[in-house]
Amino acid sequence: MYDVIVVGARCAGAPTAMLLARKGYRVLLLDRATFPSDTISTLIIWQTGVAKLKRWGLLDKVVKSGCPSITRFTMDLGDFPLSGWGPPADGAAESYAPRRTVLDKVLVDAAVTAGAELRDECSVRELVVEDGRVVGICGTTKEGATFTEQARIAVGADGKHSVVARAGKAPAYSQHASRSCFYYTFWEDLPCDGYEVYWPEGKRYILKIPTNGNQVLVVVVWPHDEFTAFRADVERNYMATLGLAPELADSIGSARRISRILGTGDVPNFFRKPYGPGWALVGDTGYNKDPITAFGISDAFRDAELLAQALDAGLSGLQQLDQALEGYEQKRNAVAMPLYEHTLSVANYQPHSPKSFEVRAALRGNQVDTDRFFGAIASTVPRNEFFNRENIQRIFRQAATWAKDTAERG
Ligand SMILES: Cc1cc2nc3c(=O)[nH]c(=O)nc-3n(C[C@H](O)[C@H](O)[C@H](O)COP(=O)(O)OP(=O)(O)OC[C@H]3O[C@@H](n4cnc5c(N)ncnc54)[C@H](O)[C@@H]3O)c2cc1C
Repeated sequence: MYDVIVVGARCAGAPTAMLLARKGYRVLLLDRATFPSDTISTLIIWQTGVAKLKRWGLLDKVVKSGCPSITRFTMDLGDFPLSGWGPPADGAAESYAPRRTVLDKVLVDAAVTAGAELRDECSVRELVVEDGRVVGICGTTKEGATFTEQARIAVGADGKHSVVARAGKAPAYSQHASRSCFYYTFWEDLPCDGYEVYWPEGKRYILKIPTNGNQVLVVVVWPHDEFTAFRADVERNYMATLGLAPELADSIGSARRISRILGTGDVPNFFRKPYGPGWALVGDTGYNKDPITAFGISDAFRDAELLAQALDAGLSGLQQLDQALEGYEQKRNAVAMPLYEHTLSVANYQPHSPKSFEVRAALRGNQVDTDRFFGAIASTVPRNEFFNRENIQRIFRQAATWAKDTAERG
């Protein structure tokens, strides 16, 4: 009998298991994968997520893996490249984009070191339910043997197509179909100055992200309604999209591609009620969104902390478990919903408004506000603190004053 069984051992499951094991709970952590192993992801961890790694004592391991820090963000919407970097979050000034083979292994090892029992290469098939309450899981080993384990609560951290969410009949809300498709591969000998985003000719996103081994992840993002067209010739469409950004196309010419192109159009947007009798959900299982704003990993870390706190309160008897889990859902949604709505609007693939180009032009040469602009993208500056009427008008006034002074000086 375990206190908690966690199904899924990546960004959401492993930290949840680690935090509960550190509090002395008996935790079983299951995954059908083995570690290290890769998964579809474009790797960015913003400062908010890095702050969690630091707090958990795991950031050093990511740094020691040879993952470069990111302290510069350049965004070129076809007008000009605007560069800056947002303020720190909880003492974390830098961002990182570790390979998932590195990050997920660090997280799983930390859970095991904390005392969680790891069973990899085990698939959970269904939940065991007694009197309407989940009391355990039923799984299969890679050799095909079936097993059953019992726990006071089963946590689904098994991704967006979760067995736990399905078995618990977790209601979904604020749902929207996939809006983007992502294709990427890794390059060597490609210059990359931090996180670079291009929106050439107002048609597609191209992202450049430095990762382990001096490699650069180059991602191409298309609207989901063109997914079938993209898939029809992945190689040609990927390379043709890079060709839309001439400065990138030049440097790609002398770089070396080191893996095949991977991608997906399976990026649905939803919230799920993250708890029920004997079960709870965390990470993509409970809340999934388009990766275009790159917050899945950081949000999974946050929700792992929130869920571990709620489970500790409920399992220790400090609070009714249901009440603690209701608080978990409320806290998650209060933080997640504004970002979710913003993410949906970015993944709308509408042309950027003339106003947004005016704001960018006004920020040119104003590094303090440019840094706060990038902070608003990385969620280290509240979006409504930057993107409010007074602040934007102040930036326009400042730009006008500087332009006048410059003209007067000749
Ligand atoms: C194209 C793309 C790009 C992305 N880019 C970024 C980015 O740049 N930055 C960012 O922060 N986020 C990004 N994300 C999102 C990020 O990858 C996810 O939010 C994150 O991986 C969620 O972690 P998780 O632990 O909830 O789920 P997952 O990473 O999906 O892990 C679920 C685990 O559960 C296991 N599992 C599933 N079913 C079972 C079962 N029945 N039995 C046993 N084990 C099971 C799986 O093997 C897997 O290991 C991206 C996502 C995609 C698709």
